[in-house]
Amino acid sequence: MSFYDVIRTYRWEEIAGEIGRRSRPDVERALAARSPGLDDLLSLLSPAAGPFLEELAQRAHRVTVQRFGRVMGMFAPLYLSNVCTNRCVYCGFNAANVVARVTLTPEEAEREGASIRRLGFRSVLLLSGEAPQVVTEEYFKGVLEKLRPHFSSIGIEMFPMTVERYRELIGQGVDSLTVFQETYDEARYGEFHPAGRKSDYRWRLETPERGGAAGFRRLGIGPLLGLNDWRVEGFFVGLHANYLLRNCWKSQVAISFPRLRSSAGGYAPPAPVGDRDLVQLICALRLVLPDAGFTLSTRESPVLRDHLIPLGITTMSAGSHTEPGGYASASGGVAQFAVADERSPGTVAEVLRQRGYEPVWKEWDAALAS
Ligand code: SF4
Repeated sequence: MSFYDVIRTYRWEEIAGEIGRRSRPDVERALAARSPGLDDLLSLLSPAAGPFLEELAQRAHRVTVQRFGRVMGMFAPLYLSNVCTNRCVYCGFNAANVVARVTLTPEEAEREGASIRRLGFRSVLLLSGEAPQVVTEEYFKGVLEKLRPHFSSIGIEMFPMTVERYRELIGQGVDSLTVFQETYDEARYGEFHPAGRKSDYRWRLETPERGGAAGFRRLGIGPLLGLNDWRVEGFFVGLHANYLLRNCWKSQVAISFPRLRSSAGGYAPPAPVGDRDLVQLICALRLVLPDAGFTLSTRESPVLRDHLIPLGITTMSAGSHTEPGGYASASGGVAQFAVADERSPGTVAEVLRQRGYEPVWKEWDAALAS
């Protein structure tokens, strides 16, 4: 049974209604539970849980320290190409946007990698738009050959692929896969993804489980916050993580919390998520998914990122450039979205240390894996 079969047994409106009906006693029960489950998640995400934010935060902190200690995995994104055949309405790389299109050569990617390595990183996340004619198998193989010597861990956040293709990539040194569903609401998914391969909701939804079948060490998922009701998205990403933990148990599961930022297309988020909302979402999910990794990007401001450090986050990016070529050259291409935390990786690491956390630049070494 794929996750698509599972999610079809739920109705978005019913989950929204259930969350809206949760009361103060429901929240108190969820907070008192030894191992809160998915039903408790509905209560913890509800408006009724708003007044309990401080308590939620304290429990999320305790659970995170208990499971992960005071460490923070550090990584940097490396954008290979902003060529894309999709038309995601919220994205600066949308095929309909008239922007300069750049695809790094393997040599340019290596220069980017070397710059990222000089910043201290040993984990890199490779991103590209969906353009299989440009980001071909041969091209990507060449990129990986150039980057492998620089990094102990290489992740990808690219277009969905088959299990066979993922197996090849693992053989070439990629160890983690991230794919955001953007919204779990199938009825509205097409509104945000009107054309291109990405308009296929099911193909995208089942990508993480294909990654698990292929054998990726880590699977990253997440909704794009700001597209739709964050409380309902929160429930479904919890359901999805729960499914992956049970069915792809050899892989670690990580959730990201990207909030929509302004992009080249000037798209305004239809369902904005406030700072308190984001804190509630992260803390609620931490209580229900104590072993999942939580990732935070530089989309968020320095103040909020520092505040979120103890509340459940286990991995963060720093000093990010979201334009291809942005690390090695000051004149990189157009950025996918605006970065809010522009501090250097060294500064972020220092903040972590001041707060009693150890920044971990190398948490995995593919060369040592059997
Ligand atoms: S979100 Fe990804 S797939 Fe969609 S337009 Fe942007 S780069 Fe392309």
